[in-house]
Amino acid sequence: MGKSERSLPDGWTTAPAEALLVANAAPVAEYDPSSTPGYSGDKNAGTAALAKRGEYLADLQEMLFANGRAGDNRSVLLVIQGMDTAGKGGIVRHVGGLVDPQGLAIKGFGKPTPEELSHDFLWRIHRALPSAGKIGIFDRSHYEDVLPVRVHHLVPESVWSKRYDLINQFERELVDAGTTVVKVALVVSPDEQKQRLTDRLADPTKFWKYNPGDVDERGFWDEYLQAYQAIFDLTNTDYAPWHIIGADRKWFSRLAVCELLIDALERLDLDWPDADFDLERERARVAAL
Ligand code: AMP
Ligand code: MG
Repeated sequence: MGKSERSLPDGWTTAPAEALLVANAAPVAEYDPSSTPGYSGDKNAGTAALAKRGEYLADLQEMLFANGRAGDNRSVLLVIQGMDTAGKGGIVRHVGGLVDPQGLAIKGFGKPTPEELSHDFLWRIHRALPSAGKIGIFDRSHYEDVLPVRVHHLVPESVWSKRYDLINQFERELVDAGTTVVKVALVVSPDEQKQRLTDRLADPTKFWKYNPGDVDERGFWDEYLQAYQAIFDLTNTDYAPWHIIGADRKWFSRLAVCELLIDALERLDLDWPDADFDLERERARVAAL
């Protein structure tokens, strides 16, 4: 089914994959993190929609997996970026959690290990790519190498500035080899971040989520916004476009990512693979058991 033939999901006035394009959005410094572009429903509707659409996502994911078993080399890679407390982990849990975990390849990227640092910045990324039939989810990604690395001058500008082109080349090759790349940047407001940090300190079940370093990183807010804008300006390609998603309403960011994955999977035009055995013969054999 072609894109134009597909109907809009309930509650959406514009296709999510279009409404959330960074190309259609305000510069990140002016972006409203509580906005829900393209979606007209409220929290109740959005929460219900996620559950319902999650079932569809699970069907599509199973079909991708089945095709992978049948020799189709295609895969999907969801790249999640966003400031501390933006809800990256929540996306993994609440959207990834909607599908069969066996079909996922989830990888979080923290500070590089000494071994990782001894290779080029894409080395650890290559090793984590989804195999045929899988949905890969990156909680942070190769973009960290032009985010904290740029903001904190961890390598000279002559090094990080070349990475935008290297990233574009890398993603071009990925797409050409059959991986659909879905890039999402979650944007949280300073007020909402403060609230989430406050909540973490007020609840013993959330202490583990609190990282004192997040308060230090917050001091570089404007520098991070600039680094994000540079990413959008330099790595928003037609083969791997960026989506920007307001993160102040968790129910919306989760629904939005679910819809982007559904869109990516629908565009693969999947069908259930044919039997790779003699169906009549096997039916007869099983009937005779
Ligand atoms: P978390 O996602 O909360 O586990 O935090 C991971 C930390 O690792 C964050 O502070 C990231 O900014 C940092 N990080 C991830 N990748 C890199 C990188 N390539 N260089 C420097 N810091 C990184
Ligand atoms: Mg963190």
